Amino acid sequence: MRTLLPPPHLSCYPHHWMSAAILDGKWVRDQIFLDLRSRLSRLRRPPGLAVILVGNDPGSEIYVRNKVKACADLGIYSEKMTPPATIATTDLLAIIQALNERPEIDGILVQTPLPPQIDRRRVLAGISPDKDVDGFHPMNVGNLVANIPAPRACTPAGIMEMLRRYQIPVAGKHAVVIGRSDIVGKPMALLLLHANATVTVCHSKTTDLVAEARRADILVAAMGRPKFVTSEFIKPGATVIDVGMNRIAPGKGGLSGDVDPAAAAQLASAYTPVPGGVGPLTIAMLMSNTVDAAERHQCSA
Ligand code: NAP
Repeated sequence: MRTLLPPPHLSCYPHHWMSAAILDGKWVRDQIFLDLRSRLSRLRRPPGLAVILVGNDPGSEIYVRNKVKACADLGIYSEKMTPPATIATTDLLAIIQALNERPEIDGILVQTPLPPQIDRRRVLAGISPDKDVDGFHPMNVGNLVANIPAPRACTPAGIMEMLRRYQIPVAGKHAVVIGRSDIVGKPMALLLLHANATVTVCHSKTTDLVAEARRADILVAAMGRPKFVTSEFIKPGATVIDVGMNRIAPGKGGLSGDVDPAAAAQLASAYTPVPGGVGPLTIAMLMSNTVDAAERHQCSA
């Protein structure tokens, strides 16, 4: 039988892992929003977030709509810009430069994926590092590596927030991250390392993925392969974090994680469901990064 971990935490964790607890991303998001509301009430003006959506990718349109909606919920000013899919890199950089110079805009986000003619690296490097609420600017990637405070990539930062708020120990634990992308796997591994986990990063060329995964006290699956992580990957009692968001045929469930949920429910001490696990945390941390930026800007103004 599965249980919903009652916040702030079960006293029985992690000993009673015979029934896996569900890590509730919506609860964590609500807690983050609660903290943000009190910080927002102390600001002189609402933070401003500019979201640039290039073209009409349907998935991106949904993500951007949800980001704008979260801003409205919290009283953060948001501005959506929708240049055409045919825009040139230099023209996109000009839009970003204009936003860099506007004092009421604290955060700038360029929704990915971008059309093929756009030089993604130049675009990400064009955002002022201080307004880079996605944490993708090379300077902020360097800050992450050096463990210097700076905006962090939202999905991995949200996962750390979830582990912290559920009081799941990280220091001294063996964490295995499957996936090494710039937006999830790599920053996830670095954040776990800075939290004193011993970290293994796996990818498509890893020789014995099952054996590596099975050593994990904390297993993070971020590969984009529906239900790839089955029972043989999971050490009994592990915490399993499923980052995967895979659209599959509507008849087969619509959205699938990278982990087989039945295997996680049976073997893990705690795991994130899909949907309702990691998903809500990404936008929550985007809001958090935007409030952080506004606080910095208003302090230095
Ligand atoms: P990505 O850029 O495609 O990276 C996938 C990573 O997984 C790569 O490093 C790849 O290895 C590795 N991989 C793929 N197949 C593998 C296999 N069979 N065995 C071992 N490693 C394998 O994907 P991403 O952007 O990191 O996203 C990963 C998943 O998370 C996707 O489902 C995405 O939709 C989801 N996601 C969710 C959120 C959220 O808010 N919940 C946010 C971002 C992403 P190589 O490097 O060797 O190719």
